[in-house]
Amino acid sequence: MAVDIVPELNEKITVAFRSRLMRNRRLPAISRMIEAGTATLDEAHEFSAIVGEAASGALKSVLVGENLPNGTLYRNIAERTVTPLLEETYTLVNDEAVQIQQLLDAAENIGLGSVRADFPRDRIADLIDKISEDLDIEIARRWLGEPIVNNSEAFFDDYVKANASFRQRSGMESRIIRKAESGACKWCRALAGSWEYGDEPREVYARHEFCRCSTTYVANRRAQSVWSKKEWELPKEQLSIMRQTRAPDEMTKEERAEVIAQREKDAQSVIDRREYLKKRRELFSRR
Ligand SMILES: [Zn+2]
Repeated sequence: MAVDIVPELNEKITVAFRSRLMRNRRLPAISRMIEAGTATLDEAHEFSAIVGEAASGALKSVLVGENLPNGTLYRNIAERTVTPLLEETYTLVNDEAVQIQQLLDAAENIGLGSVRADFPRDRIADLIDKISEDLDIEIARRWLGEPIVNNSEAFFDDYVKANASFRQRSGMESRIIRKAESGACKWCRALAGSWEYGDEPREVYARHEFCRCSTTYVANRRAQSVWSKKEWELPKEQLSIMRQTRAPDEMTKEERAEVIAQREKDAQSVIDRREYLKKRRELFSRR
C-alpha cells in the first residue's frame, strides 16, 4: 500500500517556514513597534510580504523532485501542502493587521473592531490549478515563487478593502492610500495616490510580480457623529443612504442572522496586545 507522504511534507514545510521567520531581521523590529505603539498599516503590509517570502521559500525548499512521487507535484499533493500553509499565512497577516489597527484606533479613541476579509478560496484554487496542471516540476516551482508572496500581500490588500468598506458603512470616512516602494516601476509610480473609498481605481489592489508597493487606508471620524445624533455634520448623500437603511426590527430573519454573523465576526477580531506579542514571540523568536 502506498504511504501518504503529505503529512511528512507538511512537517518539513512547517519547520522550514518557522526557521525562515525566525531568521528574519525585520520581524523583531516590527514587534518592538507594536510594543511601543508606533506600528502603522505600512508595517502590516511589510509583514505580509515577509511572511509570504518565508512561505514561498519553505515550499520551494521542500517541494523538490526528490521529495515527490515520480518527481511530480500532483494536484492532490499541491492542494494539501500549499493551501494549508497559505491558510496559516492568511491568519498571520490578518492577526497582525487587526493588532496594529487596534493600536491606531486606541490612539484615536475609536472603539470599532476590525473585520477579516474572507479566505479567497477561489483565488487559491486557481493557483493550485496552475501549479499542477502541467505536471512539470519546474513550472510548479515557478508558481511557488513570487506568486505565493503576491498572494500573501493580497491577503493584506483584502483586509484593507474590507475594513475601509466596514468603516465607511459605520459612518466614518475612509480613504485608500497607495504608496510606491522606492525604485517602483513607472506603472506603480503613476498609481500612487489617495482616494475616497469607492472612488479608487481597481488597480489600487493589483500588483505585478515583485511589487512591494503598499495599499493601506485611513478612516477619520468626520461622519461618526451620526451615532450621537449630530446628523447635520453628515454629508447629504450619506444621510439619505442612512435613511434608506432599515432598522433591525424591519429586517427579515435572514438579514438579521447576517448582521449577527457579521457582529460575531467583528467581535472576534479584537486581540489582547500582551497575548498577541507572546504568541508572536513563540512563533518568530529563536529559542
Ligand atoms: Zn509596485
